[in-house]
Amino acid sequence: MTPTTPRIAIIGAGPGGLTCARVLQRNGVPVTVFEHDASAGARPQGGTLQLHLTTGQAALRAAGLHEEFAALARPEGQEVRLLDHTARVLFQYAPAPGAPGRPEIDRGELRRLLLDSLTPETVRWGSYLRTLHPLGDGRHRAEFDDGHTEAFDLVVGADGIWSRVRPMLSDATPRYTGVTFVESGFEDADARHPEVARLVGAGSMRAESASKALIARRNSRGRIRLYAAFRASQDWALEAGVRMTDTEAVRAVLLDRFAGWDERLLALLRDNDGGFANRPLFALPVPHTWTHTPGLTLLGDAAHLMPPFAGTGAGLAMLDGDELARALAGHGDPDEAVRAYEAALLPRAAEAAERAARGLAEALTPDAPRGSLRHLRARLR
Ligand SMILES: Cc1cc2nc3c(=O)[nH]c(=O)nc-3n(C[C@H](O)[C@H](O)[C@H](O)COP(=O)(O)OP(=O)(O)OC[C@H]3O[C@@H](n4cnc5c(N)ncnc54)[C@H](O)[C@@H]3O)c2cc1C
Repeated sequence: MTPTTPRIAIIGAGPGGLTCARVLQRNGVPVTVFEHDASAGARPQGGTLQLHLTTGQAALRAAGLHEEFAALARPEGQEVRLLDHTARVLFQYAPAPGAPGRPEIDRGELRRLLLDSLTPETVRWGSYLRTLHPLGDGRHRAEFDDGHTEAFDLVVGADGIWSRVRPMLSDATPRYTGVTFVESGFEDADARHPEVARLVGAGSMRAESASKALIARRNSRGRIRLYAAFRASQDWALEAGVRMTDTEAVRAVLLDRFAGWDERLLALLRDNDGGFANRPLFALPVPHTWTHTPGLTLLGDAAHLMPPFAGTGAGLAMLDGDELARALAGHGDPDEAVRAYEAALLPRAAEAAERAARGLAEALTPDAPRGSLRHLRARLR
């Protein structure tokens, strides 16, 4: 490291932060990633991600990891089924074998792939950024929960929905979209829940009616993840008098919300393994922008949190990370690099966030599934 090498900190080891770190290191730029999780395996990473050619996959190519990705990805996961509440199939799409597209990968596998590509000790686990103190020369002193502080020339906020870097750049806070997902799942579905496995198929199945949806997605190793999606107050469980830890009480409330749906669909709510997790969906205002501030920037959900109705959040985070890293590696002046990155990022993010907001508005309407049918026919004709 030369005396002029900028000290770069990435806050957050999600898909965006790790892609940025990988592309920086591939271009010979040193970086440290600070991550809240105590270790790589500290918590389950959640469901499956669809990665598009021009976002997540493009970033993986720049990271030199596309081949490994292709070995782990599930192209058959692109299969889509749209049903109504009577379980009638309205639309079905299966990708042609070998066709390029948007294969799925489990979040945990993607994280592992990116982590394994970094030089040892790049990620400092168990480091929660509490706050940043401007030092007046474009540098910032980062203060972590364990009391440790460190000064950096550039701090990249890749710290997701409740970013601690974002408030240094913008007053915007994520707002509840009015839509909640209640997550549950099935283990070893083909053997233990064959009816559910048949209904869902090899990719994803969405049944919609009257502003509600049951969305089931295949993960690897026979897992199926289910989201019961509906419009409700953020306090719907409290108002219904149930605690999320009381699985049977939550199940009863969900069965009541989906009353009248076909029994094959209700089985998704009746027969799941484990409990239910509440996932209210939040989004940043669109467009979310900020005035360029030397020494700080954002990527991924920290910059453009949007509802997951365009299937692009992680892919965009990875593309952001790739573009920021390549800009930093290619410019002599890191501040100019960040300006160039932000000039491309902000309009792209606004366009994607608008698309995602439209997807949300069209999917859970009183006349559902008509909006989704229109959308799927236009996209997958
Ligand atoms: C139900 C659902 C389905 C989705 N499906 C898709 C899909 O198919 N395709 C797709 O592209 N996207 C999808 N998304 C969106 C995607 O999950 C996110 O957009 C993506 O994870 C954002 O990545 P990120 O790196 O910006 O942030 P994150 O993945 O949120 O990572 C942020 C990291 O920062 C850490 N962190 C947070 N605060 C701090 C702090 N103060 N200090 C240190 N570390 C911190 C966190 O622990 C975390 O590891 C989906 C989202 C949902 C909710």
